[in-house]
Amino acid sequence: MKKCDLCQKRPAVHKVSRIDEHGQMVELNLCEKCAQAKGIISPKELKTLLQILAELKKKIIEEDTRLVCPKCQMTFANFKSLGKLGCEECYTAFKEKLLPIIQELHHSTRHIGKKPKERKEIKNRFLIEKLRQELKEAIAQEDYERAANIRDALKRYETKDE
Ligand SMILES: [Zn+2]
Ligand SMILES: [Zn+2]
Repeated sequence: MKKCDLCQKRPAVHKVSRIDEHGQMVELNLCEKCAQAKGIISPKELKTLLQILAELKKKIIEEDTRLVCPKCQMTFANFKSLGKLGCEECYTAFKEKLLPIIQELHHSTRHIGKKPKERKEIKNRFLIEKLRQELKEAIAQEDYERAANIRDALKRYETKDE
């Protein structure tokens, strides 16, 4: 078995490529101890790291499940998987979580603009969803004039979306 390049004592278990101070690519064979000292993650540590990540993810999902719309009982996790809101109250219930998403959409449309069409479509979907909720509300309140206005606006957005 190869010996560690650094300590020349312990068996090398990691093969590491790095750029040295002369800009040359060098390969180092390191033992567990020297690899750790150099800040290279061992497979065991990697497993722990992945576990931590998995737990974090689980926690986020749990949080999303706890966030429930008081009116339609839709959870934020539901919303994320369905991509649409259950009722107009959902906007209020999920506001804190929705705002950064919407702001992010604004931001990326303006600054990155690589796929503006795609991002615009997502933004339009939010708007369309909001209009649909408002339309339902207007009809429920028998405010037909408002309903007609909203329907027109919806039509404009929906045709733009195609
Ligand atoms: Zn070593
Ligand atoms: Zn709701």
